[in-house]
Amino acid sequence: MCDPLCVAPFTSVLIDSDKGIRPCSAYGGVGKHIPGSAGIGRLSPDCSISDVIHGEIWRGVTDDFANGRVPAGCTDCMNRERQTGYSKRKYFYRPNWRSGITFLEVNSTNLCPLQCRHCGQHLSHRWARQRGAPVHKPDSALLLKNLRELDLSHLERVAFKGGEPMMNSDVPTVLAHLQDIGRLSEVTVVFTTSGSLIREDVVPWLSAAKRTYFGISIDGIDEVQTYIRHGPSNVARIDDFVRFYSQVPRVAFGMQPSVMIYNVFSLDRMAEWWRGLPGRVPGSVVGGPRFENMVLLPPELSVRCLSDATRARLADRYEQLDPKLYANVVRTLRLPFAGAEIHDQFVHLTRKVDRMFGRPVLESVPELAPELELLGSEADPAAGNGASG
Ligand code: SF4
Ligand code: SF4
Repeated sequence: MCDPLCVAPFTSVLIDSDKGIRPCSAYGGVGKHIPGSAGIGRLSPDCSISDVIHGEIWRGVTDDFANGRVPAGCTDCMNRERQTGYSKRKYFYRPNWRSGITFLEVNSTNLCPLQCRHCGQHLSHRWARQRGAPVHKPDSALLLKNLRELDLSHLERVAFKGGEPMMNSDVPTVLAHLQDIGRLSEVTVVFTTSGSLIREDVVPWLSAAKRTYFGISIDGIDEVQTYIRHGPSNVARIDDFVRFYSQVPRVAFGMQPSVMIYNVFSLDRMAEWWRGLPGRVPGSVVGGPRFENMVLLPPELSVRCLSDATRARLADRYEQLDPKLYANVVRTLRLPFAGAEIHDQFVHLTRKVDRMFGRPVLESVPELAPELELLGSEADPAAGNGASG
């Protein structure tokens, strides 16, 4: 077989907060998948990771790719790549993709101290509680039993994402297992974290890993950050976080913002703040600013809800500032307007969550004032609640 369009289903396993199992975080369950979950199957005492990745549905996904078809669960991922230039697919390719599992992602809890506006119940237990949805706790004994059944001898990367990995007790379990099987020194450990919590117990394992990378999901500075990321999150905490984990050998930090309607006016200020990090934390290894991930879901938080004039003005400004750094931002700003209905849903959603959190948007993002006019669609005022996950 020549290289398939995407190698993720051949090389990668992801465990979601609801214990759903899928190839990657962009894969969306459809058809015979678990109802209400993106997973292909769900880890439980009666269903192992091995059962899922060797089962009929997973085989259907790999068969599709092997035969040049895009599986139904990959449609959104491919559309996103077409629209914004960003895609998970590009990160998975490895020349040794035929060897087996090279990538493991463990997002096995929705415990998170924050309640970000673009997040939802699957990733934030605070959203889950608000909606009466389940809080998914880690189950380290079940996970360890399953990891022992997998061939991880080719593993190159292990990733821990949301909820908040620093609240996930499965993190030390996985790292300890990789050390037990003699693989940790060959593995790059990747965290996507808000940088708002520090856990000290992982330091010895990270020190034994090949490399550690922290992608910090900052979404703004000052009021924009605290407006979007409701909870104990501010940029001073991120400085402390970087200072603490800089003690880990072979560690690097990157910024991982989600660009949406609330922060698109101030990306340059975010970039400037990020560039100042090595000066504030001497000795830290920090990559350059990046703006790759454009929020498309929920659609009412996408920059496409801004008026034509505002999108054009912002696109011109970012193109002039740095066409390479802001390439995905400009590309998304130049997409067509989302439409009156989705725009009005943005206004209703913003007002609703503002009331819930006691944070009027214009105190943090005054540039949105002309965008809060309703356009007269028949959008359901009750639609949405900030829960996308
Ligand atoms: S195409 Fe996208 S969604 Fe599908 S498996 Fe690859 S990375 Fe995941
Ligand atoms: S986006 Fe990340 S930090 Fe924010 S609530 Fe969701 S999981 Fe937590």
